[in-house]
This record gives sequence, C-alpha cells and structure tokens, in this order.
Amino acid sequence: MSNPRTKALETIQNRKSTPAVEHPRRVSEIFASHVFTKDVMQQYLTKDIYKQLAKAIEEGTPVERDIADFVARGMQNWAIEQGATHYTHWFQPLTGLTAEKHDSFLTVKDGRALEEFSGSNLAQQEPDASSLPSGGIRNTFEARGYTAWDPSSPAFIFENQYGKTLCIPTIFVSYTGEALDFKAPLLKSMASLEEAAVNVCKLFDRNVKSVTPTLGVEQEYFLVDRAFFDLRPDLILAGRTVVGAAPARGQQLDDHYFGSIPERVYAFMKEVEIESYRLGIPLTTRHNEVAPSQFECAPLFEELNVAVDHNALFMDLLERVARKHSFRVLLHEKPYAGINGSGKHNNWSMATNTGKNLLSPGSAPKENLQFLTFFINTIKAVHEHADLLRSVIASAGNDHRLGANEAPPAIISVFIGSQLSKVLDEIEKPSRKKKKDTPQSYVKLGIPKIPELRLDNTDRNRTSPFAFTGNKFEFRAVGSSSNSAGPMIVLNAIVANQLVEFRKTIDRKVSRGKKKEVAIIEVLRDYVKESKDIRFEGNGYSDEWVDEATKRGLNNIKKTPKALDAYITESTIKLFTKLDIFSEVELRARHEIRLEQYVKKIDIEARVLNELVINQIMPAALRAQKELAENVEALKDIDLDAEFYEVQVELIKELAVKVRDLRKHSLKLDEALEKGEKLEEEVREQAIFYSEDVVSEMEAIREAADGLEELVPDSHWPLPKYREMLFTR
Ligand code: ADP
Ligand code: MG
Repeated sequence: MSNPRTKALETIQNRKSTPAVEHPRRVSEIFASHVFTKDVMQQYLTKDIYKQLAKAIEEGTPVERDIADFVARGMQNWAIEQGATHYTHWFQPLTGLTAEKHDSFLTVKDGRALEEFSGSNLAQQEPDASSLPSGGIRNTFEARGYTAWDPSSPAFIFENQYGKTLCIPTIFVSYTGEALDFKAPLLKSMASLEEAAVNVCKLFDRNVKSVTPTLGVEQEYFLVDRAFFDLRPDLILAGRTVVGAAPARGQQLDDHYFGSIPERVYAFMKEVEIESYRLGIPLTTRHNEVAPSQFECAPLFEELNVAVDHNALFMDLLERVARKHSFRVLLHEKPYAGINGSGKHNNWSMATNTGKNLLSPGSAPKENLQFLTFFINTIKAVHEHADLLRSVIASAGNDHRLGANEAPPAIISVFIGSQLSKVLDEIEKPSRKKKKDTPQSYVKLGIPKIPELRLDNTDRNRTSPFAFTGNKFEFRAVGSSSNSAGPMIVLNAIVANQLVEFRKTIDRKVSRGKKKEVAIIEVLRDYVKESKDIRFEGNGYSDEWVDEATKRGLNNIKKTPKALDAYITESTIKLFTKLDIFSEVELRARHEIRLEQYVKKIDIEARVLNELVINQIMPAALRAQKELAENVEALKDIDLDAEFYEVQVELIKELAVKVRDLRKHSLKLDEALEKGEKLEEEVREQAIFYSEDVVSEMEAIREAADGLEELVPDSHWPLPKYREMLFTR
C-alpha cells in the first residue's frame, strides 16, 4: 500500500521553481498601473470634474450624483482600455474576508450590445447579502443591504489569468443604516480622531487643518507545500493543524530568522511584490520570520483607510499567488502547535497637513511638548480601555497565540523604552536640579528634554503587545488573519475620546487664568501618574509579569468569549455612541457575531479532529498494532521464548492505551458538541462552553494522537508530519 504522504514528498522533491516573472528595471514603471490614481483621473476626467472629486476626497464629503456620472464614465473608459470586462463593489463584511459581486459592463439596448457604467452603478449597489453576518440586525428575510462607494480609497483593477475586474472600494450598510462591515465605522473613527487631534494641535500650531492617522502593517504568514496541504483536512477546513507531534527540531536553532530565503519562496515573493506594486501597494521589506517556513512582508505606511484596504488585498494576493507556485499560504495565528504564531503588527501614528508626524519627538520645546501630548494621551487611552483593545483582537486563532510562550501576552501593556520612561518619570517628579544641557525654558515648565531617540535593538521589546517604536506605536498583539480595521477603529476611537477630554480640561484651566503651557504640563503629569500601571518594560513572556500584572490590577483574559465582554460594557457603549462611531445596536450585533464566529471555528476544528481520528489516525494505529500482533504470533509459532517478544507486547499495550484514550475522548467530544449545539439561544454561554468543555476534549484527543504519531511506523502514518511541512524545501 503506497502512502499518500510519501507520494507528496516525492512530488515536492521534484518540484521546480515557477519561472520567475519579469521584473521591471524600475518599480516606478509599474507602480499603481492597475489603480485609478489621481494622475489617471486627470487624464480621464475633465478638469472641473476632477477638481470637484479631489475636493470631496480631501474633505471627506459625499460626491454629488451628477459628478459621479462623469467619474463613472471616466473610470469605465480607463478600465475597459485596461482590459476589464466586469466591475464589482469590493467590501469587507464582518467575516473578515473581502467580498465582491461581479457585474458585467454589458447592457443591451434595442438589441444592440453596449458597455455601460453609470454614476449610480458606481455609487451604490445592492448585493444580496443575506448570508453575510449581521448579528441579528438584518434577519435573513430582509436581505437588503447596500454598498456605497468610498472615494477616499482608489478603485483598482484586479487581474488573474482569466480576466480583469474593476474593483470599487465600498462600505456595506443595512437598509436601516447600520454598518455591516469594517470600513464604515473605520471611516467614522478616522473622522473622530481627526477632529479631536486637530483641536489639540491648535494648542501648538494654528496652521494645522487636518490630521490623518497612518498605518503600516507587517504581515506574518506561513507557507506550506500544496501537496502536503491537500493531505491535511485540518489545514483545508480550519487553517491550522489540530494534531501533529512536535518535530525533533523546531525553531530552537534560531536559524530561520533573517536567514536566506529559499529559492521557490523567493520566486513566490517576487511575484507577490510585482502584483502588489501594480495595485499600488508599496511593499518594502520581506524576510524570514522566527519559525521555519514563516515569513513577513511590510509595506511603507499609508493613510490608514488605504493601508487597511491594501492589507486586505494583499492577503488575497498572497493566497492567489501561492497557489500558482504550488504553495498554500497559512494566515492562521497558530498553524502549528509549539511553533511561533503569526501576528499582524499595526504600526500607527498621526500626520498633519503641515507634514508633521505627531508621534515623532522633536527637539524644539514647542514640538517637544506637542509630541509628549500625543504620546501621553495615547498611553492614557490604552490604560483606560485596555480591555476593549484586548477584546478587539480576540479570536479562536489568536487564543493560541496570546499568552503562548512566544507571543505577546493577553495582558495589555505599553512599552516605551528606557529613554522615554526617564522622560515620563521626570514629568511625574520634576527634578529641581538644573541639568547642564537643559535649556532654561524646559526647566521652568518642567518639560524634560527629550534626548535624540536612537532605536537600537537593546531598546526594543518584542514581547510587548503595544510598543512605542521611535515615531509610532506598534500594536503587535493583532492576529495575522484579522482585518486591521477592527483594532484600528478601537485605537482611533479611544485616542480621539482621550484627546477630546484633554482639550476640554486644558480649556477649563486656561479659562481660569492658567498659562496654556503650564496647564498642559499639569494635565500630562496627572495622566502619567494615572496611567503608570499600563507601562511595562520587562519581558512580557515571563511568569513574573503575569504575577506583577495581577498585583497592578491589570486584566489577563485568556480566552475569547470572556474577552469579548468588553464590547458591550457601559464604558465601551458610551465611548462609541458619544463619538457616533457605533450605535449600541451595532455594538451588540458585533459582539454577537464575534461570539458566533468563535463557536463556529471551534466547532469546525472539533469535527475535523474527530474525522481525522476515525478515518486516519485510528486505522493507522490499529494497523501497526495488528502487525505487531502478527509478529508475536509468528514468533510463538516457532516456539521462541517470551522474552523475545516482550518488546512487541509492550508496544502493543502502549498503542492500545492510546487508542483507548483516543476513542474515549472522541466520544466525549461528540457528546460535548451535541450539548454545545443546544446552547444556541445563549451564545455567550455557548462560547464559554466551547472554550472549556469542547477545547479540553480536543486537547486530550491531541495528546493521544500525537503520542500515536510517535509510535506508529513512519510508513503507516497518513498525515504529513510537522518536520515535513516545516522543513521540506
Ligand atoms: P520592525 O522592526 O518592527 O519589523 P519594519 O520596518 O518591518 O519594523 O516595519 C515598520 C512598519 O512601520 C513599516 O510598515 C513602516 O512603514 C511603518 N511605519 C513607519 N513610520 C510610520 C508612521 N509614521 N505611521 C505608521 N506606520 C509607520
Ligand atoms: Mg514589527
């Protein structure tokens, strides 16, 4: 009997790298060639229409319908010249994936075919979205929701080997106006942040008219050969391995990180890059990650909304290009137990229209105070809403990663580095002594001089879930498969809310006759004191930190169902309704959707696990057992002494124990699933039940199964092993 695993190995050993795609001499030759950029707009729109569109984009105001008609015509002409035959509203429903529904440009009038794409086609569509999650907002009988054009993110052409489609980024809302997607609330959160940040900037610089949040997303992922992937039902259905014994060699040699990129992977990455460039995604870095077969890509940062769209698009690209190269990409947070998980580091900051990064420390006193204002307000916001930040990154996948030994813990804390810690300490307790290089003005105000920040690796902390990295905050606890919009909505909102509070407090103090700078420093001092507990500079992976955090009263919510509670607490509802980002109905809907998704994910994993047990693992174990038993029989037949088949009998027993355990827990898992299903009415209780009772049976099964993998002869084991999936090149 030939083992499919062995065949897969052979296939892989004979694979050739896919011929390299041609690389243009300069990236600029192809960059954004598939995007309806401002330059392209100017070619395809009249001056007047372009000006009105650009103004609407800049100011975030709606585009008038008659202008949309002209824009649509220009966009269509461009798209058809590029070879597009269809268009789609491209949106990001709460599944976390992207969604599209293609329509042809074709219409027939009086028997004559012609291409048509009107302003209303561009501005609004009604996808039948009854099967997309809505958390009870829209029951399945009222399937109507609509998508509406977001002119602030440029339209683009998505190409595969079969054709080209014009994609129009849109928001997705229900007929009653509730958001059913990530983008609608994201845009609102950006507007809130902008308004609040501009008002605070005005304390320092009257010329600031607008503030845009910026985002650069580092995306981690694994690659696995397609031949292996196809033999793993768990990877196919759940995106992660639910069984698999640890390989003799894992990542203990630390030799993968920044190691040379294998050739086949290189060919894949190169093609991903070229496709990304065409779509205007400014990828810059690529390297191996810590785990074997794990990689990372990062673009230059962009305006937040565009960066989120680009990351979603990039994830699609990874999947598509990977298949072409006989790989599959694993975006799951923890595809392999015991091996590093994958994150999506969200590097976030704010930029003004005057070209200033608000989280970039300056040297002049005024700039310095402005930096400290935004810096400290962000820390304070994280302190106030740590549980909400924890909840927004919670998912079945991320549960395996947060708190596991090589990932940021489930405790939210902020790392700022030793230099800035000193600065904040000084603000808290200004030293009376005049330091010799501190200008008089600093001393009077009690503003410590910020030393030039030079980020060497000693002042970097890879164990922190939320780290300041020189001129931006890096939210590192975000899961690799999640849509960045979720965490960014929360971050924008909590900082916006905090800045509003800050400005109000300053105004109050100033109206009572306090000097502005003094008022600012006083308030910042209070904030530094109040938010001190959230700051942590040590090793976030250590047990000491868990103890220390408990002492500080910081929450350590390990699993999703309870972490999600923060979605609907009074403080969250107040925050989002005050800023007009989510209504209470929307928040409750999102809470429910997240719980449902959690239950569904675990349910799928559990079912696929039981399938593997019955169809693959048990038969392999029994076969091994039978062969041993036959061997013992044969030895007995030739009257060999018992001592010569003792080992075989031992092995048979060991196998039998594990098979028994496997069966026992597999039946218990079935029982738990049946019970879990009945809890449907109370989705929070149901999710908790899954996270405890279902998950613990799955763990018990895994223990037995992984034990069997170590006992069963290699030739009989049907599932590709960790060492093969991780190390075969
Ligand atoms: P790391 O050392 O954390 O791996 P990288 O250089 O890989 O750093 O990634 C840093 C990311 O941060 C990049 O995507 C970069 O564009 C982004 N970034 C840099 N400055 C800003 C900023 N002002 N706002 C948002 N993102 C930024
Ligand atoms: Mg990083």
